[in-house]
Amino acid sequence: MSSYPHLLSPLRVAGVTLPNRMVMGAMHTRLETLDRPHERLAAFYAARAAGEIGLILTGGYSPVPEGVIDEGGLVLNSPDQLGEHRLITSEVRKAGGSIVLQILHAGRYAKVASCVAPSPGKARISVFAPRPLSTDQVWSTIGSFAHTAALAQQAGYAGVEIMGSEGYLINEFTAAITNQRDDEFGGDFDRRIRFPLEILAAVRSRVSRDFMVIYRISSIDLMEGGMTGDEVAAFARRVERAGADLINTGVGWHEAAVPTIAASVPRAAWLAAIRNVKQAVSIPVMASNRINAPDLAETIIASGAADLVSMARPLLADPEFARKTRLGRADEINTCIACNQACLDHIFTERTATCLVNPRAGREIEFTDGKTSAPRRFAVVGGGPAGMAFAINAARRGHRVTLFEAGSEIGGQLNMARKVPGKHEFNEMLRYFRVSLERADVTVRLATKASVDDLATGEFDEIVLATGVVPRLPDIEGIGHPKVVSYHDVLAHGAPVGDRVAIIGAGGIGFDVAEFLLGSATESLDPAEFMKAWGVDPTIATPGGLARPARHRPTRTVHMFQRKAGSLGRRLGKSTGWILKARLREAGVGMTAGATYDAIDDQGLHYTVNGEKHVLQADTIVICAGQLSNRELDGQLRQRGIRAHVIGGADVASELDAVRAIDQATRLAISF
Ligand code: NAP
Ligand code: SF4
Repeated sequence: MSSYPHLLSPLRVAGVTLPNRMVMGAMHTRLETLDRPHERLAAFYAARAAGEIGLILTGGYSPVPEGVIDEGGLVLNSPDQLGEHRLITSEVRKAGGSIVLQILHAGRYAKVASCVAPSPGKARISVFAPRPLSTDQVWSTIGSFAHTAALAQQAGYAGVEIMGSEGYLINEFTAAITNQRDDEFGGDFDRRIRFPLEILAAVRSRVSRDFMVIYRISSIDLMEGGMTGDEVAAFARRVERAGADLINTGVGWHEAAVPTIAASVPRAAWLAAIRNVKQAVSIPVMASNRINAPDLAETIIASGAADLVSMARPLLADPEFARKTRLGRADEINTCIACNQACLDHIFTERTATCLVNPRAGREIEFTDGKTSAPRRFAVVGGGPAGMAFAINAARRGHRVTLFEAGSEIGGQLNMARKVPGKHEFNEMLRYFRVSLERADVTVRLATKASVDDLATGEFDEIVLATGVVPRLPDIEGIGHPKVVSYHDVLAHGAPVGDRVAIIGAGGIGFDVAEFLLGSATESLDPAEFMKAWGVDPTIATPGGLARPARHRPTRTVHMFQRKAGSLGRRLGKSTGWILKARLREAGVGMTAGATYDAIDDQGLHYTVNGEKHVLQADTIVICAGQLSNRELDGQLRQRGIRAHVIGGADVASELDAVRAIDQATRLAISF
């Protein structure tokens, strides 16, 4: 019997029989901003359909121009657009899948000057203040949703999902905090939920009964003035009565002060909120947020908390997630580590989404590699992300690859990252690399520091150097003092650290080290601890499900420094930096910008800010001052007239970046 009997069982929804309970959740990719956008979108979704995902939800299409997520964003409001959509639906069908179009009106989150909302008031995270909709305009917007749904059916989609969560327009109507209207769409609970119910009725009236209508409900708003759990349940019942075939669950508004999908959120943390919806209705309910593994998905469905699981980022990370699950090859799944680095952070900074662990995501038409007709013998030096990604991709193409790693285990910087609280998902990345190296038949030589002689034997046609980085040791008086350790000493070797700590350097690693020295590892693993720490009421008895956060009392005092002026942590990832900063602020971490480091001695760190001299009494000074490329071997090879390919941190150390390293390694591997 399969290990996933519930996950792999079919389900009939409206006119579609889904082959399994795995759904690719909607995700904005911004692929529409690139050349050949429709071809790219079609290839992107078709790859997931070929990977046997039960159902695909597109990124959100607005029914009206003022509802787009950002300038030039996706809209479906005219029959002229049907051709591009038919390309998507036919490619997905050819690949054996079904696809549903998500209708999303971004409301006051729309990054366009013409944005609208139920009532005035700019969101904390918004650029523009919205124009409140008149009653007539509300009715006309309802009609636009229905028009888009009708177009979606003509385009060959299996259904539509109406996006009613995450703080977008519909959610802005349903929550009292953003709806101060006194017409038929505002005021008491019944009037606030009228907008989505009218949308559902209008959509239903324009599409056939076998066309799937999904409603994405906000299962917990995580906003003051949001719905209580009882209200969510009552609303879910009304959604069912209004004709929805399936309810998908959303968690928290984008502006909520509680993380909902970052790696620091425990897996399946929101099940109580999802179960609350499930218990209220008789139509199928879909769970979402921080579900990234088949065993977890199976447990959720088996427990009765939901009937399906929606996974958006995990399908960016591995389009074959469902097929590998069906074949009992879950250990080969390239797991989404919830880092947000190449998906959401790209979107939030006007780039297109891809994936840190899978550079092919969203780039399907660029990566058309198959088997090589001219196998070569490669030596790869360095078993970090770049070296491993190159080795696996080259070996899968049919090349013979030997990977040299000086340490006793593969992983490089990943072995440090996985020790940081909230970064345990890096263990999955290591597992994927380990299994893939083995299945691709890469010869891995651990504890082997490759020398020029090893590489120059004629045994190899090409040499790839992924020798990584070495921590930068700044030129500060007293840098050799026994109090000084590098982040590498702390994270990789467990160097002892005292109670009073100064951290020199406030990049991603400085913040990680602070978190490591203060953090409670359980918060990111145990939903109950997480809820307590972030002030979430799991019973959702309070509006929005908010409670008073428990104070975290660290045993250490930590002070972070940087030389440049301006606040610390500015360059952290957009979607996760605020979480780190909030946690460290809460833990009382000192932060000093504009510092000049004068000396380190028995007292601690001597530094100057604005011409004033200070001393920070510290037991340990941790250096997190960036890295330098380790190109020693490249220099030695050049002296012997041997040219190697240099990738990853060994190529560019500044802003040492796994996204760039893995992308560069993969592209190099498919160039041979
Ligand atoms: P980084 O982001 O470049 O930060 C290096 C820090 O060292 C800066 O604060 C810099 O600030 C300081 N510095 C540089 N040269 C110095 C010198 N000579 N003396 C004293 N201070 C110096 O590097 P990182 O923190 O090592 O992180 C590397 C990369 O890892 C990041 O860019 C990111 O891609 C990735 N990462 C990201 C995260 C995350 O986003 N959560 C977490 C971990 C790693 P001043 O020059 O102002 O002093
Ligand atoms: Fe997941 Fe990170 Fe890839 Fe985004 S970039 S899909 S969070 S692994």
